[in-house]
Amino acid sequence: MNADLHCHSAISDGCLEPAALARRAHAHGVDLLALTDHDELGGVAEAAREAARLGMRFVAGVEISVSYGEDTTVHIVGLGVDPLDPTLCAGLARVRGGRDGRARRIAAELDRIGLRDTLAGARRFARNPAMIGRAHFARHLVASGAMPDVNAVFDHYLARGKPGFVSHRWAGLEEAVGWIRGAGGIAVIAHPARYHRLSTAAFNRFVDEFIAAGGEAVEVVAGAHTQADMLRFATLARRRGLLASRGSDFHGEAESAVEIGRCNPLPPDLVPVWSRLP
Ligand code: AMP
Ligand code: MN
Ligand code: MN
Ligand code: MN
Repeated sequence: MNADLHCHSAISDGCLEPAALARRAHAHGVDLLALTDHDELGGVAEAAREAARLGMRFVAGVEISVSYGEDTTVHIVGLGVDPLDPTLCAGLARVRGGRDGRARRIAAELDRIGLRDTLAGARRFARNPAMIGRAHFARHLVASGAMPDVNAVFDHYLARGKPGFVSHRWAGLEEAVGWIRGAGGIAVIAHPARYHRLSTAAFNRFVDEFIAAGGEAVEVVAGAHTQADMLRFATLARRRGLLASRGSDFHGEAESAVEIGRCNPLPPDLVPVWSRLP
């Protein structure tokens, strides 16, 4: 079973339109695809139609931006959600609503260090104006010749602690998991290896709170994970009785560590999250 349950279309910060992304997944042997745009379900209908045309299984997904604790951003993926669920849609609309003001603050910070007009530049790369994010600033700064590639832009300007980083309040953890469950979906901790801001104790508390809120799964295989990360989070899944998920986090050919559909397999003793998906 080649499941890829984490990827992005141009409806958030991916490079391909939803139908083109579904075609690429199918061409790379995906049997079950979830589109998981950031804070947005606007691409799932098109991706679902294309998947149906290709005879590929598809579930609607979303990756919700969450603020945890004082000021840590974590991502919670929802899989198999009803994309028309009113509470989920209203919650996501609220989260998206903060992005424009945040983009203005990012641009103002970049302006202070001499990078002018980045808001207009980033907007040209944001196909969905409501979903402007750091990746769009990064693409603009690459296109303008300020940096060689998107990773370098994050390293120099956009990552936490860099001049263009601004803190922001996203959804709450309980709230995001509640929206996903209310919409009939399964909540998944996205790319857990990326949360190095949390100490081991804080990460364990985060997992406790995620489970208490109704969260059921963790990405064991993720685009950003090393083999050691994979083994560590396989152990977490076993210890905490979490379902295991697997996803490339594909954004585009030039930007992603792992191609869509080319994730490593899950350890065979884990219970895959897709055993619970339609
Ligand atoms: P945002 O939701 O606007 O904070 O943007 C988060 C997105 O930025 C992630 O989903 C990635 O697409 C991208 N991103 C974050 N960190 C990096 C990085 N170090 N290199 C490249 N892209 C990154
Ligand atoms: Mn992204
Ligand atoms: Mn993410
Ligand atoms: Mn993602």
